[in-house]
Amino acid sequence: MIVQKYGGTSVESVSNIKGIARKVALEKAGGQDLVIVVSAMGDTTDELMKLADHITTRHHKRDLDMLLSTGEQVTVALLCMALREEGVAATGLTGWQAGISTTTDHGGASILSIAPERIQGELKMGNVVVVAGFQGITGDGDISTLGRGGSDTTAAALATKLGAERCEIYTDVEGVYTSDPRYIKNAVMISSLTYEEMLTMARRGAGVLHPKAIEHAMPHNVPLVVRSSMSRVGGTWIHGSPGKGVSHPVCGVVFHKGRFCYTLSPIQNRMEIKRLISSRLTLWGMEYDTLIEEGGDTLAFLVAEDDLERADSIFDRAGAIVRRDRKATVTVVAKDKKTCPVIRDKVRQILQENRIAFHTIENCTNHVTTVVEESHAIDLASLLHSAFGLDEVQAFEAAGIY
Ligand code: ASP
Ligand code: MG
Repeated sequence: MIVQKYGGTSVESVSNIKGIARKVALEKAGGQDLVIVVSAMGDTTDELMKLADHITTRHHKRDLDMLLSTGEQVTVALLCMALREEGVAATGLTGWQAGISTTTDHGGASILSIAPERIQGELKMGNVVVVAGFQGITGDGDISTLGRGGSDTTAAALATKLGAERCEIYTDVEGVYTSDPRYIKNAVMISSLTYEEMLTMARRGAGVLHPKAIEHAMPHNVPLVVRSSMSRVGGTWIHGSPGKGVSHPVCGVVFHKGRFCYTLSPIQNRMEIKRLISSRLTLWGMEYDTLIEEGGDTLAFLVAEDDLERADSIFDRAGAIVRRDRKATVTVVAKDKKTCPVIRDKVRQILQENRIAFHTIENCTNHVTTVVEESHAIDLASLLHSAFGLDEVQAFEAAGIY
């Protein structure tokens, strides 16, 4: 059995949905059992968000989840209809019908458990199962959503629970690239990555895969394949073991805009304040970074734009002098963590040569992350992509050493 996930652009029109139904029908006829996870059509989630904003921008999160979760259900119903037209018996399920239980944090919920009986029963009857991505149900019986891009997580969690052979993520690019191909013109597709490498790429800004999807697949060694729904070539395999042979020392250069840097000036008690704020941010379930401060008595934390409201209240209460600036991070992801010191030196040298002001993030194990002005992010990513030889990765791959 395999799980396939089709993203928004792959299901953006009725003709795309019919095309997927034909593909699924062929695979089913070939004897493959299939669970299909779908996203909302095209920009539906953004459009729903806009509708809500027309009423208020101070959203009640339970209401918002009620609204946003409808997008995926539309696709489920249409794909089931299209499959039936192809002569394939299909059963469409919402998140709760598929047995997906989540935490209560609306808009960014995590999958806690999956009761697989319904899906297993449908598969046993020979049906293709189509599941709405990005949603589940809380312990109180409320609809929750998993955060933008969360359908990947639904697919990976189902593949893990159901013991699928693999989880295929169909998207509008041919696979995972060394950098964002929309901005870095020399970015090339990577054919194979380990879970750890992909997790770092995803957490540091590679939008192609939701980080939590990797967290679900990794402990159970379920291979993930990212590929295009339009072409048969390409595809990136994400799995447990590194590829054979010598590899290029750097996997990719990724960037993340819309990071917010809070700078505090605690005259005294620097460590105490740092510990206090860190524990509060963790308690609220926020991912954050601390910046390496050379000398001085300031402290700086980096949080995501989505977390601003909650972060503001934490920093306000901390009482130190606070400045909040919009920044970006640019990250070089290493194949081997032992090479990080060398990578860090080279990054620093490039920044200095190009007179780009920067900070570095603490505690990076398999990567080097630099904080810069948002306007410098793409130029820096492009410089680093060339400097670390990623422009020529295709040549490495051809020589069998990627
Ligand atoms: N439809 C949701 C979004 O646009 C979830 C997903 O596509 O993964 O973020
Ligand atoms: Mg996505």
